Amino acid sequence: MTIKQFVFNALSENTYIVFDETRECIIIDPGCYEADEKNELKQYIAENDLKVKLLINTHCHIDHILGNNFIKNEYGVKLVVHKKELDNLKATKFVAPIYGFPAYEHCDPDAYIEDGDKIEFGNSTLDVLYLPGHAAGHIAFVNEKENICIAGDVLFKESIGRTDLPGGDHNTLIDSIKNQLFKFPDSMTVYCGHGPNTNIGYEKQYNPFCGEATN
Ligand SMILES: [Zn+2]
Repeated sequence: MTIKQFVFNALSENTYIVFDETRECIIIDPGCYEADEKNELKQYIAENDLKVKLLINTHCHIDHILGNNFIKNEYGVKLVVHKKELDNLKATKFVAPIYGFPAYEHCDPDAYIEDGDKIEFGNSTLDVLYLPGHAAGHIAFVNEKENICIAGDVLFKESIGRTDLPGGDHNTLIDSIKNQLFKFPDSMTVYCGHGPNTNIGYEKQYNPFCGEATN
């Protein structure tokens, strides 16, 4: 499994393309907004001969969904989100200009996914984990064999997602991290919605919000 990371838009959001040896891929959180960002994504897909199977949002904050409409139109794929993100998705239409993204185009989801669902593409599977706290319907994706987690804005290197936006709750977020993410092996790589990758063991030890020092 290959995980390609792009950093897009003024909020430095991490967009991921995940694919395997079959060249089938999924796109998670397309934050591409400017034409050059969309072109970069398109070019990578073309150069690597990838076939896009599905578009997924970990959650529907604006920086993670700016490119939804572009991807849907360009590749004719379905958008799937957790049902509890519908409020965020609808609100984005109205807050987009305030955040400096007046050209944002709304895009309705085609289907919903939830905890325990499996995302399948090529020979690969990602397990869907429901991790509320940063957003009401936040989900993450895990493949235990590959030892990877794509965690959106739940956990960052030495930080956690903000909880002051609608649907956010600090204790719920800490609970999601400690009781769900931290049950995975220390060596599991975590791909974050912002900033560099990290791993479970490092965050257990050094995260100032949910690491050992806070126990
Ligand atoms: Zn967010």
